[in-house]
Amino acid sequence: MKVPYVAIAQQNAEIKEQLLAAVDRVLSHGGFILGEEVAELETNFAAYCGTQYAVGVGSGTDAIVLTLRALGIKPGDEVITVPNSFIASTSAIILSGAIPVFVDVQNDYNLNPDLLEAAITQRTKVILPVHLTGRPADMHPILALAEKHGLAVVEDAAQAVGARYHGQHVGSFGAAGCFSFHPLKNLHACGDGGIVTTNDETLYQYLRKARNNGLRNRVECEFWSTNSRLDALQAAMLRVKMKYIDNWTETRRMNAAFYREHLADVVEVPQDLSHEYAVYHTFVIQADLRGELQHHLIHRGIGTNVHYPIPIHLQEAAHSFGYKVGDFPVAERQAERILSLPIYPELTDYQKRAVVTGIRGFYD
Ligand SMILES: *Cc1c(COP(=O)(O)O)cnc(C)c1O
Repeated sequence: MKVPYVAIAQQNAEIKEQLLAAVDRVLSHGGFILGEEVAELETNFAAYCGTQYAVGVGSGTDAIVLTLRALGIKPGDEVITVPNSFIASTSAIILSGAIPVFVDVQNDYNLNPDLLEAAITQRTKVILPVHLTGRPADMHPILALAEKHGLAVVEDAAQAVGARYHGQHVGSFGAAGCFSFHPLKNLHACGDGGIVTTNDETLYQYLRKARNNGLRNRVECEFWSTNSRLDALQAAMLRVKMKYIDNWTETRRMNAAFYREHLADVVEVPQDLSHEYAVYHTFVIQADLRGELQHHLIHRGIGTNVHYPIPIHLQEAAHSFGYKVGDFPVAERQAERILSLPIYPELTDYQKRAVVTGIRGFYD
Protein backbone atom coordinates (compact mmCIF):
# COMPACT_ATOMS: atom_id res chain seq x y z
CA MET A 1 0.00 0.00 0.00
CA LYS A 2 1.46 3.30 -1.17
CA VAL A 3 -0.62 5.41 1.22
CA PRO A 4 -1.99 3.29 4.08
CA TYR A 5 -5.01 4.75 5.88
CA VAL A 6 -3.11 4.78 9.18
CA ALA A 7 0.58 4.48 10.13
CA ILE A 8 0.69 4.05 13.89
CA ALA A 9 3.90 2.04 14.02
CA GLN A 10 5.65 4.86 12.17
CA GLN A 11 4.65 7.46 14.75
CA ASN A 12 5.88 5.28 17.60
CA ALA A 13 9.14 4.56 15.76
CA GLU A 14 10.04 8.25 15.71
CA ILE A 15 9.97 8.49 19.50
CA LYS A 16 10.85 4.89 20.29
CA GLU A 17 13.85 5.70 22.47
CA GLN A 18 11.78 7.95 24.71
CA LEU A 19 8.95 5.42 24.89
CA LEU A 20 11.35 2.64 25.84
CA ALA A 21 12.91 4.86 28.51
CA ALA A 22 9.42 5.45 29.94
CA VAL A 23 8.70 1.72 29.93
CA ASP A 24 12.05 1.06 31.56
CA ARG A 25 11.23 3.57 34.31
CA VAL A 26 7.95 1.80 35.09
CA LEU A 27 9.58 -1.64 35.10
CA SER A 28 12.11 -0.30 37.57
CA HIS A 29 9.70 1.29 40.02
CA GLY A 30 7.08 -1.45 39.67
CA GLY A 31 4.02 0.75 40.28
CA PHE A 32 1.95 -0.70 37.46
CA ILE A 33 -1.56 0.46 38.35
CA LEU A 34 -2.43 4.15 38.90
CA GLY A 35 0.34 5.68 41.05
CA GLU A 36 2.63 8.57 40.18
CA GLU A 37 2.72 8.01 36.41
CA VAL A 38 -1.05 8.29 36.14
CA ALA A 39 -1.18 11.20 38.60
CA GLU A 40 1.41 13.10 36.54
CA LEU A 41 -0.46 12.44 33.31
CA GLU A 42 -3.70 13.61 34.93
CA THR A 43 -2.10 16.85 36.07
CA ASN A 44 -0.60 17.50 32.64
CA PHE A 45 -3.77 16.60 30.79
CA ALA A 46 -6.00 18.77 32.99
CA ALA A 47 -3.63 21.71 32.52
CA TYR A 48 -3.61 21.11 28.77
CA CYS A 49 -7.41 21.21 28.57
CA GLY A 50 -7.71 24.09 31.02
CA THR A 51 -9.63 22.12 33.64
CA GLN A 52 -8.94 21.67 37.31
CA TYR A 53 -9.03 17.89 37.32
CA ALA A 54 -8.55 14.83 35.14
CA VAL A 55 -9.11 11.16 36.02
CA GLY A 56 -7.46 8.39 34.01
CA VAL A 57 -9.68 5.40 33.27
CA GLY A 58 -9.59 2.18 31.27
CA SER A 59 -11.09 3.46 27.99
CA GLY A 60 -13.02 6.27 26.36
CA THR A 61 -16.17 4.19 26.68
CA ASP A 62 -15.66 3.83 30.43
CA ALA A 63 -14.94 7.57 30.66
CA ILE A 64 -18.50 8.22 29.45
CA VAL A 65 -20.18 5.41 31.42
CA LEU A 66 -18.57 6.41 34.72
CA THR A 67 -19.26 10.11 34.13
CA LEU A 68 -22.94 9.46 33.47
CA ARG A 69 -23.13 7.34 36.63
CA ALA A 70 -21.36 10.11 38.54
CA LEU A 71 -24.10 12.47 37.42
CA GLY A 72 -26.67 10.19 39.03
CA ILE A 73 -28.25 8.72 35.91
CA LYS A 74 -31.15 6.37 36.80
CA PRO A 75 -32.97 3.82 34.63
CA GLY A 76 -35.47 5.64 32.44
CA ASP A 77 -33.48 8.88 32.29
CA GLU A 78 -32.77 10.17 28.80
CA VAL A 79 -29.43 11.29 27.38
CA ILE A 80 -29.40 13.21 24.10
CA THR A 81 -26.68 12.47 21.57
CA VAL A 82 -26.08 12.12 17.81
CA PRO A 83 -26.68 9.08 15.58
CA ASN A 84 -23.53 9.40 13.44
CA SER A 85 -20.82 8.85 16.07
CA PHE A 86 -18.75 5.81 16.89
CA ILE A 87 -21.06 3.25 18.48
CA ALA A 88 -19.49 3.77 21.95
CA SER A 89 -21.12 7.20 22.41
CA THR A 90 -24.46 5.39 22.55
CA SER A 91 -23.40 2.11 24.16
CA ALA A 92 -21.98 4.12 27.06
CA ILE A 93 -25.39 5.75 27.55
CA ILE A 94 -27.08 2.34 27.58
CA LEU A 95 -24.48 0.90 29.97
CA SER A 96 -25.11 3.78 32.37
CA GLY A 97 -28.77 2.71 32.49
CA ALA A 98 -30.14 5.64 30.47
CA ILE A 99 -32.09 5.76 27.21
CA PRO A 100 -30.34 7.39 24.23
CA VAL A 101 -32.30 10.03 22.33
CA PHE A 102 -30.87 11.11 19.01
CA VAL A 103 -30.74 14.54 17.41
CA ASP A 104 -29.68 14.92 13.78
CA VAL A 105 -26.39 16.54 12.83
CA GLN A 106 -25.53 19.45 10.57
CA ASN A 107 -22.94 19.96 7.89
CA ASP A 108 -20.05 19.89 10.38
CA TYR A 109 -21.05 16.30 11.38
CA ASN A 110 -21.97 17.57 14.85
CA LEU A 111 -25.20 18.03 16.79
CA ASN A 112 -27.54 20.56 15.18
CA PRO A 113 -28.45 22.96 18.02
CA ASP A 114 -31.60 24.08 16.17
CA LEU A 115 -33.07 20.59 16.60
CA LEU A 116 -32.01 20.14 20.21
CA GLU A 117 -34.83 21.73 22.18
CA ALA A 118 -37.49 19.60 20.48
CA ALA A 119 -35.74 16.47 21.79
CA ILE A 120 -35.74 17.59 25.44
CA THR A 121 -38.37 15.91 27.63
CA GLN A 122 -39.21 15.66 31.35
CA ARG A 123 -36.84 12.68 31.50
CA THR A 124 -33.83 14.30 29.84
CA LYS A 125 -30.85 14.53 32.22
CA VAL A 126 -27.78 14.99 30.06
CA ILE A 127 -26.82 16.32 26.63
CA LEU A 128 -23.85 14.43 25.18
CA PRO A 129 -22.51 16.25 22.11
CA VAL A 130 -19.68 14.56 20.21
CA HIS A 131 -16.81 16.56 18.72
CA LEU A 132 -16.79 14.22 15.75
CA THR A 133 -13.85 14.15 13.32
CA GLY A 134 -11.95 16.35 15.81
CA ARG A 135 -14.07 19.39 15.03
CA PRO A 136 -15.70 21.11 18.02
CA ALA A 137 -19.48 20.93 18.26
CA ASP A 138 -21.33 24.25 18.34
CA MET A 139 -21.11 24.53 22.13
CA HIS A 140 -22.55 27.98 22.91
CA PRO A 141 -26.16 27.27 21.85
CA ILE A 142 -25.92 23.75 23.33
CA LEU A 143 -24.76 25.12 26.69
CA ALA A 144 -27.44 27.82 26.63
CA LEU A 145 -30.23 25.24 26.12
CA ALA A 146 -28.72 22.98 28.79
CA GLU A 147 -28.76 25.84 31.25
CA LYS A 148 -32.31 26.83 30.34
CA HIS A 149 -33.55 23.28 31.02
CA GLY A 150 -31.27 22.48 33.97
CA LEU A 151 -29.36 19.72 32.13
CA ALA A 152 -25.76 18.61 32.41
CA VAL A 153 -23.51 18.58 29.34
CA VAL A 154 -20.96 15.79 28.92
CA GLU A 155 -18.61 16.18 25.96
CA ASP A 156 -17.58 13.11 24.00
CA ALA A 157 -14.15 14.44 23.07
CA ALA A 158 -12.69 11.04 22.18
CA GLN A 159 -11.70 12.26 18.70
CA ALA A 160 -10.88 15.83 19.62
CA VAL A 161 -7.96 16.18 22.01
CA GLY A 162 -6.60 19.71 21.57
CA ALA A 163 -9.59 21.03 19.61
CA ARG A 164 -10.79 24.52 20.51
CA TYR A 165 -14.01 26.49 20.14
CA HIS A 166 -13.70 30.27 20.44
CA GLY A 167 -10.23 29.62 21.85
CA GLN A 168 -11.39 27.28 24.61
CA HIS A 169 -10.31 23.63 24.74
CA VAL A 170 -12.91 20.90 24.31
CA GLY A 171 -13.40 18.94 27.50
CA SER A 172 -13.67 22.17 29.52
CA PHE A 173 -17.18 23.28 28.50
CA GLY A 174 -19.54 20.85 30.17
CA ALA A 175 -19.71 19.04 33.50
CA ALA A 176 -17.03 16.73 32.08
CA GLY A 177 -15.10 15.87 28.93
CA CYS A 178 -14.46 12.25 27.97
CA PHE A 179 -11.35 11.31 25.99
CA SER A 180 -10.00 8.06 24.54
CA PHE A 181 -6.38 6.98 24.22
CA HIS A 182 -7.19 4.13 21.82
CA PRO A 183 -4.28 3.55 19.38
CA LEU A 184 -6.23 5.15 16.52
CA LYS A 185 -6.90 8.43 18.36
CA ASN A 186 -4.73 11.53 17.92
CA LEU A 187 -3.11 11.11 21.34
CA HIS A 188 -2.88 7.40 21.84
CA ALA A 189 -1.61 4.77 24.21
CA CYS A 190 -0.07 1.46 23.17
CA GLY A 191 -3.32 -0.21 24.19
CA ASP A 192 -6.60 0.97 25.68
CA GLY A 193 -7.02 3.97 27.92
CA GLY A 194 -9.17 7.02 28.54
CA ILE A 195 -9.50 10.11 30.71
CA VAL A 196 -12.21 12.40 32.07
CA THR A 197 -11.66 16.15 32.51
CA THR A 198 -13.77 18.22 34.90
CA ASN A 199 -13.87 21.36 37.03
CA ASP A 200 -16.33 19.77 39.46
CA GLU A 201 -14.61 18.51 42.58
CA THR A 202 -17.50 16.25 43.59
CA LEU A 203 -17.47 14.59 40.18
CA TYR A 204 -13.71 14.25 40.38
CA GLN A 205 -13.80 12.56 43.77
CA TYR A 206 -16.58 10.22 42.63
CA LEU A 207 -14.67 9.20 39.48
CA ARG A 208 -11.50 8.41 41.42
CA LYS A 209 -13.47 5.89 43.44
CA ALA A 210 -15.69 4.71 40.57
CA ARG A 211 -12.69 3.55 38.52
CA ASN A 212 -11.44 1.50 41.46
CA ASN A 213 -14.36 -0.64 42.65
CA GLY A 214 -15.91 2.20 44.63
CA LEU A 215 -13.05 2.05 47.12
CA ARG A 216 -12.40 5.17 49.16
CA ASN A 217 -9.06 3.74 50.27
CA ARG A 218 -7.53 0.29 50.39
CA VAL A 219 -10.19 -1.15 52.69
CA GLU A 220 -13.34 1.02 52.66
CA CYS A 221 -15.87 0.64 49.86
CA GLU A 222 -18.33 3.51 49.45
CA PHE A 223 -20.44 2.20 46.51
CA TRP A 224 -20.52 -0.66 43.98
CA SER A 225 -18.45 -0.01 40.92
CA THR A 226 -16.11 -1.53 38.39
CA ASN A 227 -12.39 -1.80 37.68
CA SER A 228 -11.47 0.76 35.05
CA ARG A 229 -8.00 1.99 35.91
CA LEU A 230 -5.46 3.51 33.58
CA ASP A 231 -2.20 1.61 33.95
CA ALA A 232 1.18 3.17 34.59
CA LEU A 233 2.86 1.84 31.43
CA GLN A 234 0.27 3.58 29.28
CA ALA A 235 0.42 6.75 31.35
CA ALA A 236 4.22 6.82 31.15
CA MET A 237 4.15 6.54 27.36
CA LEU A 238 1.31 9.07 27.10
CA ARG A 239 3.39 11.55 29.10
CA VAL A 240 6.01 11.30 26.34
CA LYS A 241 3.44 11.72 23.59
CA MET A 242 1.80 14.73 25.23
CA LYS A 243 4.95 16.70 24.43
CA TYR A 244 4.30 16.11 20.73
CA ILE A 245 0.55 16.39 20.47
CA ASP A 246 0.47 20.07 19.46
CA ASN A 247 3.07 19.51 16.71
CA TRP A 248 1.23 16.47 15.44
CA THR A 249 -2.03 18.42 15.39
CA GLU A 250 -0.45 21.31 13.49
CA THR A 251 0.79 18.85 10.86
CA ARG A 252 -2.66 17.28 10.59
CA ARG A 253 -4.07 20.77 10.03
CA MET A 254 -1.49 21.47 7.33
CA ASN A 255 -2.39 18.19 5.62
CA ALA A 256 -6.05 19.20 5.83
CA ALA A 257 -5.29 22.59 4.29
CA PHE A 258 -3.48 20.86 1.42
CA TYR A 259 -6.43 18.57 0.71
CA ARG A 260 -8.86 21.48 0.98
CA GLU A 261 -6.89 23.54 -1.49
CA HIS A 262 -6.56 20.74 -4.04
CA LEU A 263 -9.90 18.97 -3.69
CA ALA A 264 -12.56 21.59 -2.91
CA ASP A 265 -13.63 21.84 -6.57
CA VAL A 266 -14.27 18.09 -7.01
CA VAL A 267 -15.62 16.87 -3.65
CA GLU A 268 -17.14 18.44 -0.54
CA VAL A 269 -14.36 19.20 1.98
CA PRO A 270 -14.71 20.20 5.66
CA GLN A 271 -14.74 23.94 6.29
CA ASP A 272 -12.25 25.55 8.61
CA LEU A 273 -14.09 28.31 10.48
CA SER A 274 -12.22 31.11 12.22
CA HIS A 275 -13.69 30.43 15.69
CA GLU A 276 -12.80 26.73 15.50
CA TYR A 277 -9.54 24.90 15.86
CA ALA A 278 -10.26 21.42 14.50
CA VAL A 279 -7.70 18.66 15.10
CA TYR A 280 -8.66 16.45 12.15
CA HIS A 281 -8.88 13.07 13.80
CA THR A 282 -10.40 12.26 10.43
CA PHE A 283 -10.52 14.31 7.24
CA VAL A 284 -13.96 13.49 5.86
CA ILE A 285 -14.98 14.37 2.34
CA GLN A 286 -18.43 13.89 0.83
CA ALA A 287 -18.37 12.41 -2.63
CA ASP A 288 -20.73 11.25 -5.36
CA LEU A 289 -20.16 7.56 -6.15
CA ARG A 290 -18.35 7.15 -2.81
CA GLY A 291 -18.05 3.36 -3.10
CA GLU A 292 -16.60 3.54 -6.61
CA LEU A 293 -14.19 6.28 -5.55
CA GLN A 294 -12.99 4.19 -2.62
CA HIS A 295 -12.45 1.26 -4.95
CA HIS A 296 -10.61 3.40 -7.48
CA LEU A 297 -8.26 4.58 -4.70
CA ILE A 298 -7.61 1.07 -3.38
CA HIS A 299 -6.45 0.08 -6.86
CA ARG A 300 -3.94 2.93 -6.68
CA GLY A 301 -2.64 1.80 -3.29
CA ILE A 302 -4.52 4.45 -1.30
CA GLY A 303 -6.33 3.40 1.86
CA THR A 304 -9.49 5.21 2.97
CA ASN A 305 -12.24 4.48 5.48
CA VAL A 306 -15.88 5.28 6.21
CA HIS A 307 -16.66 6.72 9.65
CA TYR A 308 -19.34 5.37 9.91
CA PRO A 309 -21.33 3.51 7.27
CA ILE A 310 -24.29 2.49 9.50
CA PRO A 311 -25.90 5.25 11.62
CA ILE A 312 -26.36 4.10 15.21
CA HIS A 313 -30.19 4.33 15.15
CA LEU A 314 -30.21 1.82 12.26
CA GLN A 315 -27.92 -0.71 13.95
CA GLU A 316 -29.38 -4.10 14.84
CA ALA A 317 -28.58 -3.40 18.50
CA ALA A 318 -30.84 -0.30 18.36
CA HIS A 319 -33.84 -2.24 17.04
CA SER A 320 -35.85 -2.00 20.26
CA PHE A 321 -35.82 1.82 20.15
CA GLY A 322 -38.04 1.69 17.08
CA TYR A 323 -36.16 4.15 14.89
CA LYS A 324 -36.47 3.80 11.13
CA VAL A 325 -34.82 4.97 7.92
CA GLY A 326 -35.62 8.65 7.41
CA ASP A 327 -35.64 9.63 11.10
CA PHE A 328 -32.30 11.49 10.84
CA PRO A 329 -32.01 12.40 7.17
CA VAL A 330 -28.80 14.44 7.35
CA ALA A 331 -26.83 11.74 9.18
CA GLU A 332 -28.26 9.07 6.88
CA ARG A 333 -27.38 10.96 3.72
CA GLN A 334 -23.87 11.69 4.98
CA ALA A 335 -23.38 7.99 5.80
CA GLU A 336 -23.78 7.24 2.09
CA ARG A 337 -21.39 9.95 0.91
CA ILE A 338 -18.59 10.25 3.48
CA LEU A 339 -15.04 9.04 2.99
CA SER A 340 -12.11 9.56 5.39
CA LEU A 341 -8.75 10.27 3.74
CA PRO A 342 -5.33 9.50 5.28
CA ILE A 343 -4.47 12.56 7.42
CA TYR A 344 -1.83 11.41 9.96
CA PRO A 345 1.18 13.66 10.62
CA GLU A 346 3.70 11.27 9.01
CA LEU A 347 2.15 11.58 5.54
CA THR A 348 4.77 12.68 3.02
CA ASP A 349 4.23 15.29 0.31
CA TYR A 350 4.45 12.50 -2.24
CA GLN A 351 1.69 10.59 -0.45
CA LYS A 352 -0.58 13.62 -0.13
CA ARG A 353 -0.16 14.35 -3.83
CA ALA A 354 -0.94 10.70 -4.65
CA VAL A 355 -4.23 11.01 -2.74
CA VAL A 356 -5.15 14.23 -4.56
CA THR A 357 -4.18 12.82 -7.97
CA GLY A 358 -6.11 9.64 -7.28
CA ILE A 359 -9.31 11.50 -6.38
CA ARG A 360 -9.06 14.03 -9.21
CA GLY A 361 -8.34 11.22 -11.66
CA PHE A 362 -11.57 9.48 -10.67
CA TYR A 363 -13.74 12.51 -11.52
CA ASP A 364 -11.94 13.43 -14.75
C1 LIG B 1 -13.09 6.00 20.17
C2 LIG B 1 -14.35 6.65 20.57
C3 LIG B 1 -15.01 6.34 21.78
C4 LIG B 1 -14.62 5.19 22.65
O1 LIG B 1 -13.30 5.17 23.07
P1 LIG B 1 -12.62 3.76 23.47
O2 LIG B 1 -11.35 4.19 24.11
O3 LIG B 1 -12.42 3.00 22.22
O4 LIG B 1 -13.54 3.07 24.41
C5 LIG B 1 -16.14 7.05 22.12
N1 LIG B 1 -16.61 8.02 21.34
C6 LIG B 1 -16.02 8.35 20.16
C7 LIG B 1 -16.59 9.46 19.35
C8 LIG B 1 -14.89 7.67 19.74
O5 LIG B 1 -14.32 8.00 18.56
